[in-house]
Amino acid sequence: MTATLDQRARSLRDLRISVTDRCNFRCGYCMPKELFGRGFAFLPRAELLSFEEITRLARLFAEQGVTKVRLTGGEPLLRRDLERLVEKLAVLDGITDVALTTNGAMLAGKARALADAGLTRVTVSLDALDDDVFGAINDVGFPVARVLAGIDAAADAGLTPVKVNMVVRRGVNDHCLLPMADLFRHRGHTLRFIEFMDVGTTNHWTLNDVVPVAEILRTIEASWPLQPLQPNHQGEVAARYRYRDGAGEIGLIASVTRPFCASCTRARLSAEGKLHTCLFAAGGHDLRALLRGGASDEEIARRLRSIWIARADRYSEARSPLTARRPKVEMSYIGG
Ligand code: SAM
Ligand code: SF4
Ligand code: SF4
Repeated sequence: MTATLDQRARSLRDLRISVTDRCNFRCGYCMPKELFGRGFAFLPRAELLSFEEITRLARLFAEQGVTKVRLTGGEPLLRRDLERLVEKLAVLDGITDVALTTNGAMLAGKARALADAGLTRVTVSLDALDDDVFGAINDVGFPVARVLAGIDAAADAGLTPVKVNMVVRRGVNDHCLLPMADLFRHRGHTLRFIEFMDVGTTNHWTLNDVVPVAEILRTIEASWPLQPLQPNHQGEVAARYRYRDGAGEIGLIASVTRPFCASCTRARLSAEGKLHTCLFAAGGHDLRALLRGGASDEEIARRLRSIWIARADRYSEARSPLTARRPKVEMSYIGG
């Protein structure tokens, strides 16, 4: 199979699938309460892609070169029986990796079933270890201990190494870097520090709130010396470092200060079946209309190829305070 390349010679390798636009958290950087309040109109059930529709699309994406899929949202574990979807995706030809990004709130009760269904990896988001700080960030007062229980359950189920994502915001949780690093050292989990991004239009992003990874690195290194590691694979978004004392590794995701658009091989499928070629896209391509309109596999495959070939996205490379104000799809909808 010859790879389909976009306008910047990037192939299509990863597919992020948002299975719901709903979430049980209201993290201010993603779904601020003042916008995603009681009256917010989430997608009605009938508008979400069914597991069968998602699987059909994933099979067609795999034929275009996708090898990795990641289930996300919103909070993907809010979608009932998610393990049934994992089971379907895990057996698709060409798919070598089925991963999940979750806030961990419901992971303790689900990890074993997900692993049994063929999930290969899990990333859990956790921004602080102090209940007051974390409860204010998730804005529903959700306790840290239950997320940690989810991480333990995932590790017990063999979903190792568990990755832990920490979005770092200046003045909010930048004082939590060392306690977070300390907890996950020696545990076999990989803590990844993520620069706060201007996703969507509702999170009041400013450059002043971003803690650059260079600063994060200096802070960690002052306590525990680090050594850079080679990427695991081409296009890996996290820069990897190992603790020199053998306590494991960390990752740094510099989406703002060191953009990685040049090697971005990711496509995103929204919960209602729109294909987005960039996290910062203003809109998507409606694949559900094709699915429900009776299009053949060949027609859908042709559409996927033509969308990818036309892709020229490089938002992070061009980011400025002006681009931050551009209309963009919200992350909870498009899938992080
Ligand atoms: N609800 C799940 C979760 O929180 O893991 C999955 C969806 S969430 C949108 C995916 C990832 O995006 C999470 O790790 C979250 O911390 C990250 N994220 C959300 N908003 C972000 C922002 N403004 N900047 C950087 N990362 C962000
Ligand atoms: Fe929900 Fe994840 Fe967004 Fe937080 S980051 S509001 S947990 S979707
Ligand atoms: Fe990929 Fe868009 Fe992010 Fe650049 S800004 S790395 S093109 S998703």
